[in-house]
Amino acid sequence: MTPPANQKTPNMKIFEEIESEVQSYARSFPRVFNRAKGETMWDEEGNEYLDFLAGAGTLNYGHNNPVFKDILIDYIQNDGITHGLDMHTKAKGEFLQTFNDKILKPRGMEYMVQFTGPTGTNAVEAAMKIARNVTGQQNIVTFTNGFHGVSLGALAATGNSHHRDAAGVSLSGAHRMPYDGYLGENIDTTEYLDKVLSDSSSGINSPAAVIVETVQGEGGINVASIEWLQSLQSVCRKHGILLIIDDIQAGCGRTGDYFSFEEAGIEPDIITLSKSLGGYGLPFAVVLMKPELDQWKPGEHNGTFRGNNLAFVTAKAAIEHYWSDEKFSEEIKRKGRYVSDRLDSIVREYGEGNFTTKGRGMFQGINCVNGEIAGKITSSAFKKGLMIETSGADDHVVKFLCPLIISDENLKKGIDIVESAIQEVCAKVDQIPEEKTYFDAG
Ligand SMILES: *Cc1c(COP(=O)(O)O)cnc(C)c1O
Repeated sequence: MTPPANQKTPNMKIFEEIESEVQSYARSFPRVFNRAKGETMWDEEGNEYLDFLAGAGTLNYGHNNPVFKDILIDYIQNDGITHGLDMHTKAKGEFLQTFNDKILKPRGMEYMVQFTGPTGTNAVEAAMKIARNVTGQQNIVTFTNGFHGVSLGALAATGNSHHRDAAGVSLSGAHRMPYDGYLGENIDTTEYLDKVLSDSSSGINSPAAVIVETVQGEGGINVASIEWLQSLQSVCRKHGILLIIDDIQAGCGRTGDYFSFEEAGIEPDIITLSKSLGGYGLPFAVVLMKPELDQWKPGEHNGTFRGNNLAFVTAKAAIEHYWSDEKFSEEIKRKGRYVSDRLDSIVREYGEGNFTTKGRGMFQGINCVNGEIAGKITSSAFKKGLMIETSGADDHVVKFLCPLIISDENLKKGIDIVESAIQEVCAKVDQIPEEKTYFDAG
């Protein structure tokens, strides 16, 4: 493998010329990529990279997964429907049947499935609309460091000021509460939620719903404890508030089970899924809602691309191939234990004051004392052939998000690269300044 020079190449000129400044990941990985397979990507110069970014959680089954690829090629060869608005198609019917038989029914889950526009943020918009329309309340409780997308409704529920500041209008209809661990380890923030909802003078309007991630992805791999999630559900039930789990990043196996909340044994009223749902990296999003909440009038929340039939085909294949039994789930949990053992030992080695670990399943991170250090680690890793990003308020968490199907060998290799990047960065920094303390669970 030729290590990337990390310098601008001639083939990058067009991006500088006419692609908007809004580009983001391209800045961290300044190469022109043209091939990918499994957990590996190649740039136009033929350099090879291990992908620990995985489309921000969209490529749980890897790039160009051969199982889905053949099925997809066959479907296209036979002139299967690609676009059909929201009309019934064979591909959609088969996806629904498989999703119901292999995912919902075995878990005793009874939900209606709404196809929204194919982005996560559109599923979040729809979920919040249903909750507001059914309850007649406007307010939605959201959590510190939560990320739910960047269209206005979802952005109101998002914490990050970098994203919020771009809105240009006031973001209304959401009320922020402290996430698990936000106020320190021993403070149960659901008690505070319960208190303000019980007090008619708290100034918090009775909400339609609570929207929450079980593990905050963009917010810095903050893990809500199982007890906190259970307690959150009890508070919601007590006050007649709908519970929306945004499982767009944590779902589809990332934490070990298909849904990230399974371990907590809770029953959300509404669930959003996207990112890895389509399996092949194809755009696809759904809202799952309890049948009694399905009070939509025809076409009230519409969208031209509610029927990405290519994604139905690969989503069905992903469920059939990976979720027909417990094996895949067990594999994810085994790999997750390996990642957390390795990260724990890296933290022990390079100073517990500078780094901590956090995460659940294959959704893990190294929390650095500041964003500068985290950024140095990820850019050094890139020079060594590993693509890995940061997340969190100050981009201070190195976020391990490799495809779940990664080989043991490459999983080890990727973590070895991060370890040597940390070693390199630590050697350069005499003393890491203690700027800020992050109180996070996990
Ligand atoms: C990525 C993400 C979204 C937004 O999805 P887009 O497809 O980028 O609109 C919403 N919620 C969570 C938890 C996410 O990780």
